[in-house]
Amino acid sequence: MTGAHEPVVVYDTADPEHIAPPSEICLGCSGLESGHLVPVTFCPKAKTKLPPVPGEPSS
Ligand SMILES: [Zn+2]
Repeated sequence: MTGAHEPVVVYDTADPEHIAPPSEICLGCSGLESGHLVPVTFCPKAKTKLPPVPGEPSS
């Protein structure tokens, strides 16, 4: 399945100890095979599927 604008959590696999926090990216905008990651916040479609963030205006 490709093209779905769903938020997915990815871990930095280059970081063996997982020090970096996981990132939420848009599956539809990103190319996991090419390593091109687009944050969910950059995709309005995926962003609507995220739970609301406390303290952020839901515009
Ligand atoms: Zn997207």
